[in-house]
Amino acid sequence: MRKIIIAGNWKMNKIFPEAEDFFMDIAEYIENKKLGNVEVVICPPSVYLEMAGDITADHQLFIGAQNVSRFESGAYTGELSALMFNSMELDYCIIGHSERRKYFAETDKSINEKLKILQENEIIPIVCIGETLNERESGITEKIVLNQLEGAFRDVQINDDVVIAYEPVWAIGTGVTATPQQAQEIHYLIRNWFVDKYSKEVAENIPILYGGSMKPENIKELLSQQDIDGGLIGGASLDISKFSEMIDIAVEL
Ligand code: PEP
Repeated sequence: MRKIIIAGNWKMNKIFPEAEDFFMDIAEYIENKKLGNVEVVICPPSVYLEMAGDITADHQLFIGAQNVSRFESGAYTGELSALMFNSMELDYCIIGHSERRKYFAETDKSINEKLKILQENEIIPIVCIGETLNERESGITEKIVLNQLEGAFRDVQINDDVVIAYEPVWAIGTGVTATPQQAQEIHYLIRNWFVDKYSKEVAENIPILYGGSMKPENIKELLSQQDIDGGLIGGASLDISKFSEMIDIAVEL
């Protein structure tokens, strides 16, 4: 059975005491819960990773970064390496988020380099892909998503965990959510791409998360789709009551 991942992407939000309170509260909230095949991941700003790791060490919580350098180490001021994350025993790292593609010139080539460096350092990549509104309205959603997959997975072997997040850019932070049918259609396309490129077994094991204004009101319907294996949640993951409600809904499904 594929795992279901409920992942929060905090982006550049929360000051230290707020972040600390959140981690203590969520750790306590899920302490004695039976999560079954649901895995809870939080990706705070990187300056909070150590604190988050300390608080959640003995809890059923996984921590991820929001980005990683494509370089190994050295004179790259301001960058954080996969080796550093590995030395902190970090579990996950988001790469290719549309905000990084838009504001920080992230390309399929750099995402491909980041994917490989994360694999070398045993950190599970959460690879984000998705079309813009303009691309959807031009009828090229499938072409865009498949091109992004081709670019990100060029010369990549899959022997360990990899997670995909399908995030239609027009649904991120806008309050507009893809309908469950729209999302399922693309998730199915993505899974089939993995069947063709790798194998049925690889494709069956890859969690494909949906991202884009996911919230307690729509998570159940989205997760009920055959190929939607969780969510990468931005805005609603900042609110502990909404985030914990979404964990509970996923567990009950
Ligand atoms: C995201 O940042 O990945 C995201 C999906 O944001 P939101 O849930 O706020 O749309």
